[in-house]
Amino acid sequence: MTHPLFAPGFQPRPWWWEAAEPPDRDTALPERTRVAIVGGGYTGLSAALTLRRLGHEVVVLDAERIGWGASSRNGGMVSGGLKVARGPLEQQFGPERAAEIARACGASFPFIEETIAREGIDCDYVRCGRFVGAWTPKHHAALARTVERIAEISGQPAWMVDRAGQREYLGSDHYHGGMVALGTGSLHPGKYARGLAAAAERAGAVLVDQVRVSAARPEGEGFRLLTSAGEMRADAVLMATNGYSRGGPMPWLAKRLVPVGSYIIATEELGEDRIEALFPNRRMISDTKRVLNYFRPSPDGKRVLWGGRASFGPETPERAAPRLHAMMSAVFPELKDVRITHAWTGNVAFTFDHLPHLGVEAGLHYAAGCQGSGVAMATWMGHNAALKLAGAGNAGFALDSLPFPTRPLYSGDPDWFLPIVGAWYRLQDRIDRIAA
Ligand SMILES: Cc1cc2nc3c(=O)[nH]c(=O)nc-3n(C[C@H](O)[C@H](O)[C@H](O)COP(=O)(O)OP(=O)(O)OC[C@H]3O[C@@H](n4cnc5c(N)ncnc54)[C@H](O)[C@@H]3O)c2cc1C
Repeated sequence: MTHPLFAPGFQPRPWWWEAAEPPDRDTALPERTRVAIVGGGYTGLSAALTLRRLGHEVVVLDAERIGWGASSRNGGMVSGGLKVARGPLEQQFGPERAAEIARACGASFPFIEETIAREGIDCDYVRCGRFVGAWTPKHHAALARTVERIAEISGQPAWMVDRAGQREYLGSDHYHGGMVALGTGSLHPGKYARGLAAAAERAGAVLVDQVRVSAARPEGEGFRLLTSAGEMRADAVLMATNGYSRGGPMPWLAKRLVPVGSYIIATEELGEDRIEALFPNRRMISDTKRVLNYFRPSPDGKRVLWGGRASFGPETPERAAPRLHAMMSAVFPELKDVRITHAWTGNVAFTFDHLPHLGVEAGLHYAAGCQGSGVAMATWMGHNAALKLAGAGNAGFALDSLPFPTRPLYSGDPDWFLPIVGAWYRLQDRIDRIAA
């Protein structure tokens, strides 16, 4: 498909893959292992690294390539619990438990920073801060009610900005001010996925590509995995399939996750001066819309990467791209004629209680549900799942074994209701703005 907005050589695949495409591996499927991890994204790789450090034999299996899923496609915006801190945790759990959960989420941020530094992962990481644009004055007031909690959880300053001061943080008047949170950063997700995989391999983990696991059958003290490359035995299994869990070996997990496509476009190179004018200090940007926008300069400071929920049904990146471009031009009208070089999509996983979950069901361990905000969180969840598996956690993890809700008749396929929910959210966003 061509479109006047597509630059010559337009690619319907992640711009990140130009520098760090997930590589092919030709490792044979081992016959048995102590821990089998299904899913080779940040969750699975981080779990593998920790398990190896604790001396456990571990094999990571991915149906595609290691790092192929959301982990090499995301926006690369790093935060610890920003979304959870803004959610209705206290109503759900009461003040004490809510504080514990928020702290457990916030701890993901120092953990990813420590992981990157310890493993020497070259992934363009910068602690650059984030500006969250308020879509309406009411949203600004709601952000103001959480700003203290965000500063407390992240241990870094966070403050409110009014509309008049907004241009110091964003080259646009589109929002009604917003919030700045300094305990946040940015990285190159493809390089991070590669670096984490390399760290796990260096530590002795076996990473296996192109092996789809279709079933995990209890056998003796462990499991027999049925895969597209034959069978494998494992003493324990960790499911790290997140937004790609549908049709996999753990239907119980798929019934509790709502996979949603998120889409990103990359613009052609604009030059560092134009980028600096749009993104002063190269901060990450997101907003408070129900159908949110998230956008950033590329790590080399030359182009805009613009992400959002361009579609709530199955949609190709080519068809989603012009819609994302329109969203971008609404915020940055000066970019209306700028062309798109890449467009791509990937699955995030939402849960019905808006929280990430980790636990064990019918003997299978799982860690999933990062609500589209999992660069730090998935790394942290994988680590904590590994501690649990190894029996090495010396304190309870607040997200461990929380009640994990599903909905009657929901089997893991949201395609029939997501377009309805998406249309409703879009309408609400429009009404909120008109009423503002
Ligand atoms: C477009 C997009 C933008 C995003 N932006 C951000 C952002 O800016 N900041 C942020 O914090 N988060 C963001 N996220 C979310 C973040 O990327 C994810 O939360 C995180 O990568 C999840 O990692 P994971 O390892 O759990 O899952 P994934 O990386 O999705 O890995 C799951 C893997 O499981 C494999 N798999 C599935 N089923 C099987 C099977 N049966 N057998 C074998 N393998 C299987 C898949 O092939 C896949 O590789 C974004 C996500 C997307 C898609």
